[in-house]
Amino acid sequence: MLLFFNLLMFFLGACIVSFATVFVQDFELGQVFSHKRSSCDHCHIQIPFYYTIPILGYLATFGKCRNCNNLVKFWYPISEILGGAILLCAALYHKDLVWFVPMFLALVILSVSDFQFGYIYSSYYLPFLIPLALHWQYLHPLEGLLVYFLMFVFQSISNAIGIADVELLAIIAVFFGYVYAVYILFLACCLCILLNLFNKKRSFRFIPYLSVATGIIYLIFV
Ligand SMILES: [Zn+2]
Repeated sequence: MLLFFNLLMFFLGACIVSFATVFVQDFELGQVFSHKRSSCDHCHIQIPFYYTIPILGYLATFGKCRNCNNLVKFWYPISEILGGAILLCAALYHKDLVWFVPMFLALVILSVSDFQFGYIYSSYYLPFLIPLALHWQYLHPLEGLLVYFLMFVFQSISNAIGIADVELLAIIAVFFGYVYAVYILFLACCLCILLNLFNKKRSFRFIPYLSVATGIIYLIFV
C-alpha cells in the first residue's frame, strides 16, 4: 500500500511537470482552452494520448516521434523524473501536500516558461494564491517587501538579474521569511555557477535555479 502511494506521488509529480510544460507552450500560442492533444515539436502531428503519459510515453516511443522519427527533447523526461522525485520526497518527509502541490505547480510553470522563452507572465503567479490563503497566518509580508526593495535596487544598479527573479524571490520571502530567502538565493547562485562551469553556452535563466533551490531548502530545512 505504501509502495503504491509512493508510486502515485512520483507519477503525480511527473504529471504536474508534464502538464506545466504543455500549459506554458499552449499559453504562449494562445491555445490553452483549445483542448487539443499534445503534438510533435517537429512535424506538429497530434500524439496519441497513451504516448503523452509522462516518462512511460517517452520510453514506449524510445524517445522518438512515431511519425517523423525526430528525437523528443531529452529534458522532457528528465524534468518529469525530477518533478516525480520532488513530490515523492515531499510525501516521504510528510509535508502538507495540499499546500505544497500548488506551490510546486507555480514554480514549475515559472521555471518552464523562463527556461523555454526567457520571460514569464504575471498570471503564472496565480497558483501561489492557494498556499497564500491556506497559510496566511504564517506569512512574512514585511520581509517580502524588504527583499523586493533590496533586490529591486540591486537589479536596477547591476542588471545582473531580471525583474521576474526579484518578484519570485520576494514571494519566497513572503512564504519562508528573509533568512530562508537568502539561503535559497545563495544555493541558486551556487547551482547556477556549477552548471555554467559544465555548459558555458547555457543562457542565463535564473528562475529554474531559484525553484530547484526553493525545493531543496524547503524539503530539508523548513
Ligand atoms: Zn514528429
